[in-house]
Amino acid sequence: MNTEVRLERLSQPEAEARLQASRLAVLAPGSIEQHGPHLPLGTDAFAADVLAEEVARKLGAVLVPLPLVGVSPYHLSWAGSLSFKPQTFIAVVEDICECLARHGVEKVLFVNWHEGNTPTVRLAGDSIQRKFNLRVVVAESHIITNKLFGERAKLTHAGNMETAAVLMYDPSLVDLSKATNPTSEAQGDHGHEIFRQKDVFPIMRDFHEVAATGWYGRPEEATPELAAEIRERVSDYIVEKARLEFDRARYMQG
Ligand SMILES: [Zn+2]
Repeated sequence: MNTEVRLERLSQPEAEARLQASRLAVLAPGSIEQHGPHLPLGTDAFAADVLAEEVARKLGAVLVPLPLVGVSPYHLSWAGSLSFKPQTFIAVVEDICECLARHGVEKVLFVNWHEGNTPTVRLAGDSIQRKFNLRVVVAESHIITNKLFGERAKLTHAGNMETAAVLMYDPSLVDLSKATNPTSEAQGDHGHEIFRQKDVFPIMRDFHEVAATGWYGRPEEATPELAAEIRERVSDYIVEKARLEFDRARYMQG
């Protein structure tokens, strides 16, 4: 059997067979935003893409293409960063999922890597679930990576975790010799903490509020071995938990 899972690379009959067999589409929201001088703008999109492809393969599902752009308005003071308005992103997801529902898809799994996408992915998920009678599960792969690897994959910006993520995708896109001028880790951690509070918190206007130079962390700690480990363990984790959540949803519907 063809092990290809990317919809755009399948022939129509292959795609139809896979969609009918699994009824499951995997979507990887992207983001094009500055990640310091040493990592590409597509870092978050590439990370989600690699993990989503792995997850789709392990689940026998189809990886459905989305734009590489996500919701990242607070990075726009750095040229080259792009952002959808949340409503644009939701509209794109709705249009794609309307097609998928028509072709027999019943379950949608988002594999996201970009924190700024989270509120919008939830709204999009709620909308397609109601409109097209789908069941939606969201996997926050950056959170999972940090949970499994701790300090080896810290939730900074363009540090060890995200450098490993780009190593998973294409090592030639990492240039550690350019990783100069980081904001101090203490400042970055403190900045992020303010916006990650769960009870009372400000809405981020500009990423300068977290890191004045745009990035912080320890990119030099990322290795090809860490990258391979993240690809394997995070995709396994998502597969196991997503199966559980899709099954739970089935029982709840009775
Ligand atoms: Zn990122």
